[in-house]
Amino acid sequence: MFSNPEFDGHETVVFSRDEVSGLTAIIAVHSTLLGPGFGGCRMFPYADEDAALTDVLRLSRGMTYKAAICGLPLGGGKSVIIGDPRRDKTPELLAAMGRLVAGLNGLYIVADDVGTSLDDLAVMRTETEYTAATTPAARRPLAVTAYGVLKAMESAVELVLRRSGLAGLSVAVQGLGNVGMPLCGYLAQRGAKLTVSDIDPGCIAAAQRDFGATAVEPDDIYGQAVDVFAPCAFGAILNDDTIPRLRAAIVCGGANNQLLSTVHDAALAQRGIVYVPDYLVNAGGVIDFHQESIDDTPDAVLGAVDRIGAITGDILARAAAGGETPLTITDAKVRQRLAAARSATR
Ligand code: NAD
Repeated sequence: MFSNPEFDGHETVVFSRDEVSGLTAIIAVHSTLLGPGFGGCRMFPYADEDAALTDVLRLSRGMTYKAAICGLPLGGGKSVIIGDPRRDKTPELLAAMGRLVAGLNGLYIVADDVGTSLDDLAVMRTETEYTAATTPAARRPLAVTAYGVLKAMESAVELVLRRSGLAGLSVAVQGLGNVGMPLCGYLAQRGAKLTVSDIDPGCIAAAQRDFGATAVEPDDIYGQAVDVFAPCAFGAILNDDTIPRLRAAIVCGGANNQLLSTVHDAALAQRGIVYVPDYLVNAGGVIDFHQESIDDTPDAVLGAVDRIGAITGDILARAAAGGETPLTITDAKVRQRLAAARSATR
């Protein structure tokens, strides 16, 4: 594990197999310097244990960065269950996962993620108090992540394109799922022109019908001549193959780990494309979790997510003034915050 390229001084990594329920899981707590490690439980049929470990190490680090850049009293954690959620998920397996979380005594707070649902968290909650979604408000479909993407995009458009408001803005949205579809809704409401791609014809038809979107083939989304490209499907889509094809001025979307590697941040900058760091853009869910413990009314939650716009504006202004990329500045801010917390504990 220590030689895995994604290992980044993670505080705690727990491997567990429960023979009775069939649970095979890893919990990674990247950092608790700012608070308990918060993050989702992903259930996925990983090809092998290395792939699962790589994913949980990378995603838990991302959670630390999301919470830290938004100034939240939370750290970063994540868990993965190796298995097919449609075939292998049972109440016994979820209860075993709950016991594994309980064993960490609050170092890790588990949320839903790809392959797990709020109902699954309710089963885990029979074994541990350390789960998200404990209040009825959590069941509201508020689309907080998409709302955060919208706020980041508004700030980026203002700073980079010198435009206020999104009317007439052209946006290419890749992926029309839990993030991409409500993002299209927010953008259409504000008069943006949408070009979309998805591999699911049903999603495409819905975006055409509801938002007047123009659909393109999945591989053609990169070359669209638009103001903003919003990746909202999966990671590693900013790479040697796609970056030369981009014709957008700004990349601002909800997908996690959009850059194949950090060199691709520089590659985007060389092409004059402003990349808004993914972990800032998609931090709406973490802000929501924190806000629900303070005031869980919809206005309060969305008001808290607004901060993504302000932080984006600040970072892009500093990037424009200083010549560094937004990602370099954002990463440095996170590291400063973690270092300050580390020295305060000594
Ligand atoms: P989702 O599974 O609901 O949606 C993904 C969509 O992408 C699906 O409609 C799928 O058909 C589509 N897709 C798959 N392959 C595609 C391709 N080749 N081209 C175009 N579309 C394709 O997932 P989601 O919850 O919307 O999450 C999307 C991304 O945002 C992921 O990277 C996720 O990690 C990240 N994210 C999600 C949240 C959240 O609140 N859901 C929070 C933070 C980050």
